[in-house]
Amino acid sequence: MKNTILGALLLLSITLLAQGEKEKITETVNQSVIKSHIGFLASDALKGRDTPSPELDIAAEYIKSRFVQYGVSTADGMDSYFQEVPMKSLKAATEGTLSLAGDEYSLKDDFLLLDGGKDLEGPIAYVEYGSTEDLEKGKVEGKIVVALCGDGTVQNPRAWFRISREKRSKAKELGAIALVELYNSSQMPWSLLVRFLSRDQVGLNAEEGPSLTHIWMNRSVDDLENLTKKKQTGSLTVSGNSQEAFVSKNVVGFVEGTDENLKNEIVVYSAHYDHVGIGQADDSGDTIYNGARDNAVGTVTVLSAAENIARYPTKRSALFVLFTGEEKGLLGSQYFIDNSPVEHSKMVYCFNSDNGGYNDTSIATIIGLSRTTAGDIISEACKAFELEATDDPAPEQNLFDRSDNVRFATKGIPAPTFGMGFTAFDEEIGKYYHQPADEPETLDYNYLEKFFSAYVLSCRMIANAEETPFWVEGDKYYEVGKQLYNR
Ligand SMILES: [Zn+2]
Repeated sequence: MKNTILGALLLLSITLLAQGEKEKITETVNQSVIKSHIGFLASDALKGRDTPSPELDIAAEYIKSRFVQYGVSTADGMDSYFQEVPMKSLKAATEGTLSLAGDEYSLKDDFLLLDGGKDLEGPIAYVEYGSTEDLEKGKVEGKIVVALCGDGTVQNPRAWFRISREKRSKAKELGAIALVELYNSSQMPWSLLVRFLSRDQVGLNAEEGPSLTHIWMNRSVDDLENLTKKKQTGSLTVSGNSQEAFVSKNVVGFVEGTDENLKNEIVVYSAHYDHVGIGQADDSGDTIYNGARDNAVGTVTVLSAAENIARYPTKRSALFVLFTGEEKGLLGSQYFIDNSPVEHSKMVYCFNSDNGGYNDTSIATIIGLSRTTAGDIISEACKAFELEATDDPAPEQNLFDRSDNVRFATKGIPAPTFGMGFTAFDEEIGKYYHQPADEPETLDYNYLEKFFSAYVLSCRMIANAEETPFWVEGDKYYEVGKQLYNR
């Protein structure tokens, strides 16, 4: 800041604002409320809130009931608190043979089935990276489309996975019978990929009709020559696999803002409410992965904000969203952003909460704290409850792009993630992270009271601030944000 007096005045005004709002927080946030929410959501009775499970639906009903109790309404354009999310469970194939241009390949050793999967046969169309243009040029109707993973610019398998969704839907639209992508990455060796992708999966079921068969194949570009020759054919036989469609739920609530103009700007408060369900027993024989930290705590940050803002509405409007299927690959948030009840440009900020665990009760860790202009406000709100706000301690882990907030960020909406204090991925985190030990009674509720209070105060201050928060100049998502809001 150039002018130090101006800077000091600005900070002072934020401090005064924080003090004025603080009383409203202590009226709704207290330990007994926190304990009862987390105690229920992370109880053994909810069996770890797997997607799908009847217990996850019970959690959704619980959240809905709290919205009703608080006086939170349904969002415009929605006739219920539930946004139905079409999903499918995919049971992995146990055996399979892929034949391409005369050579035979076997399941797992050479290829993985990512989606679809029935016996088929047809001519091969080789389309380089399989961009829309490549696919249109390739006359792919009735053919097995063979392409390279990615788009030629990024080297990250996670990004390849994202990019392949577009290829798949375009190939399907053009009448292809399968998409085979050639995988060759030093970042994630094939054996690791096999471990991740040959398990049973859950995915979105947003497309119409049966899914296109989608294969990743362990080949390097050197092997292409044979495939690119004309009049080649291929075939696939698989067994053991199956698909079942089901519907899961995002829970969505709304409180209208009080300011004539600012109420048209919506702040989103979000968290995922699912966890990983029942799994391998730990040393004590416990098989229920309760998910108290991950993410009953995040769910309760949003519930705490909902109760408070319903009682004392802010100038900007509030949209509360609890996502399903985060642990299965950020599915609920993906569906929400693709089918959101409000236009993206109306959502000016997304304040997400996701939690792996904590190892420092003097801080709150905000992934992306310094990446939006609301960073000072969040720091001040934390200070009001004796917590220091700290940014991402492990940027190399790229946590910002690994939780539901990234669905908003990639559209240009500023979206940090508020989480419990952690300074490193150490033993203390590992003891509970995705473990049966992540139970409600292992939490420090004195800390949580401060933590939830700091979150709700941050929400109030962001939603009442004169200036609309935005990305800090130069951020990775700054330009797409400018486009979204016509800034
Ligand atoms: Zn998790």
